[in-house]
Amino acid sequence: MKHSAQVIIVGAGPVGLLTALALAQENVSVIVLEADAKVSDAPRASVYFPSTITALDKLGMLQDVTAASERGISFATRIPEFGFISEIQHSVMKGITYEYQLHCGQDELALIAIRHAEKVGVDIRFNHRVLALSQDSHGVALTVMTPEGEQVLKADYVIGCDGARSTIRKLLDLSFDGHTWPTRFVATNVYCNFTKHGYCPANIMLDPIDGGVVMSLGKPDFWRVTYAEDGTLAPETHRERIMQRYARIMPKDEPFELVASNPYTIHQRAASSFRVGRTLLAGDAAHATNPLGGLGLTGGLWDGMILADLLAAVLRNESKDDVLDQWAIERKRVFWEVASAGASENKRMVEEKDPIQRRLDMERLQATADNPEAGRQMMLYPFKLIGDVIRPGSRWEGTDPTPNAGIDLSQRQSQFR
Ligand SMILES: Cc1cc2nc3c(=O)[nH]c(=O)nc-3n(C[C@H](O)[C@H](O)[C@H](O)COP(=O)(O)OP(=O)(O)OC[C@H]3O[C@@H](n4cnc5c(N)ncnc54)[C@H](O)[C@@H]3O)c2cc1C
Repeated sequence: MKHSAQVIIVGAGPVGLLTALALAQENVSVIVLEADAKVSDAPRASVYFPSTITALDKLGMLQDVTAASERGISFATRIPEFGFISEIQHSVMKGITYEYQLHCGQDELALIAIRHAEKVGVDIRFNHRVLALSQDSHGVALTVMTPEGEQVLKADYVIGCDGARSTIRKLLDLSFDGHTWPTRFVATNVYCNFTKHGYCPANIMLDPIDGGVVMSLGKPDFWRVTYAEDGTLAPETHRERIMQRYARIMPKDEPFELVASNPYTIHQRAASSFRVGRTLLAGDAAHATNPLGGLGLTGGLWDGMILADLLAAVLRNESKDDVLDQWAIERKRVFWEVASAGASENKRMVEEKDPIQRRLDMERLQATADNPEAGRQMMLYPFKLIGDVIRPGSRWEGTDPTPNAGIDLSQRQSQFR
């Protein structure tokens, strides 16, 4: 059977769409299959750090994403109980990278990615749910439920970008190793004037009961408020509890209008392998983290960017296919050592109950805010998600301003011959 495309991507979430765009820019033919009728507008990612901005710029999307976003020039940590606020300015990164972060909903980011991807020939098919997969040394065949009935589509490679409940991961019979937290997060989108009460666009709130985030969604007075609740409570009744929580979290006497909410079970998990034969996993399909610190999509995006470059080189016969194994091993390391480790520490700090530890955390946060070098290290942390397996000559080479993880670069280059 003739291949429908060189690469089929399963899932039109932000990772699938941005990966499709990156591949098409390398002249690879790509089909994206999405089960739903449209891009998901569930309240999820809302903040994009300089590492993400670097990628969006190289993809040619930065102007459009900037037009849809608000710029934040600092990151605040607040402990309401102590009246404590520490704010680290992006200006500590002057001369190194962008001195701001962007705020908009991930659905807006996805819609912009669709426009750019379609312009370079990506074929995006909504209402196409992948049901089954088989592969051999020549390619991968997917059985897909479409509005016209079942079809089989074939490609040289398939990338599963189909989210944390990934069908592709299950069809590959891979385990999703790690743990699920006993608390769930409730993400709400709300109109409220937080700015009037001194909030900068990005705020992490530390509190043993009401800890979470307050983030601008990039439109006037439009905010994301996320908090934790006991995971044994019924998720479908979460809305009945929102006003009780808002009474404690929202600025006093400030009017608000709740517009959306969603409960999320949260995990620290990764697939046992990110590659099986000609099928690869990227984004939440490969790994899931709690969202504190915004490292989920920030990391998933780099799975896709690095993979698109390597896969294009393999398809041009410039690299051997085993670089994909290097990619798979490195992306798993990056998830556990950078994304999961950072997000887990953020979660510990947000929910910390021990009063002595809370004081220590506060002192450390103040020391970081007072010391530009410490502030810089903190703000550059998301760049570590780029990882160390980058093809020499690739457009991603040199994008990570943080020191490499100690890998001998001459050995790294030999991986690509
Ligand atoms: C409350 C919250 C806040 C967050 N905030 C941030 C943040 O600020 N910054 C950040 O970096 N990350 C954040 N994240 C994480 C971020 O939302 C995810 O990492 C991101 O959505 C992953 O993108 P993805 O494309 O891998 O998967 P998804 O966005 O989950 O997309 C997967 C797509 O695959 C489709 N699909 C599923 N099965 C099939 C199938 N069988 N066939 C075809 N299509 C299929 C789905 O319909 C979906 O459209 C947050 C998460 C939450 C819950």
